[in-house]
Amino acid sequence: MNDIRTLAIIKPDAFGGGKTGKIIDHLESAGFGVLAARVVHLSRAGAETFYDVHRGKPFFTSLVDFMTSGPVLAMVLEREGAVTRLREVIGATDPAEADPGTVRALYAESKERNAIHASDSPDNARVEVAFFFAGVDLA
Ligand code: ATP
Ligand code: MG
Repeated sequence: MNDIRTLAIIKPDAFGGGKTGKIIDHLESAGFGVLAARVVHLSRAGAETFYDVHRGKPFFTSLVDFMTSGPVLAMVLEREGAVTRLREVIGATDPAEADPGTVRALYAESKERNAIHASDSPDNARVEVAFFFAGVDLA
């Protein structure tokens, strides 16, 4: 996939905390369009599959607990350089290390409860878009 689409998830802390509108405003101001969006309450199996790369790490069970603690908003976002630009816009995993003005610096609570997910490569973006939007015509 060319780097024009990426997958973002507004995580349970931010979705349940009423920060969805502010975060989408931030993303639109950064030049992203919302191509598709879906509210999902992930199952344990679903969260484990989505974060399979982290299976076995010390924070894995806690991460799955968190990601299944409430609904999330999964979105396909579109702009040139989508993957790279969204990673810049959301900031570092730990909000204490995120650049000022990034989504995580503004809205994350902690390294785990960090408001938003973004795909980390175009290949993973394709896999992650398919995870949430299988069978959806995004053309
Ligand atoms: P994401 O994949 O959600 O966009 P990321 O790519 O910045 O985040 P990853 O290393 O892929 O970071 O970690 C996935 C998620 O797991 C993090 O966003 C965070 O919620 C949680 N996490 C990562 N490292 C830790 C840690 N050391 N302690 C607690 N939670 C962590
Ligand atoms: Mg990641």
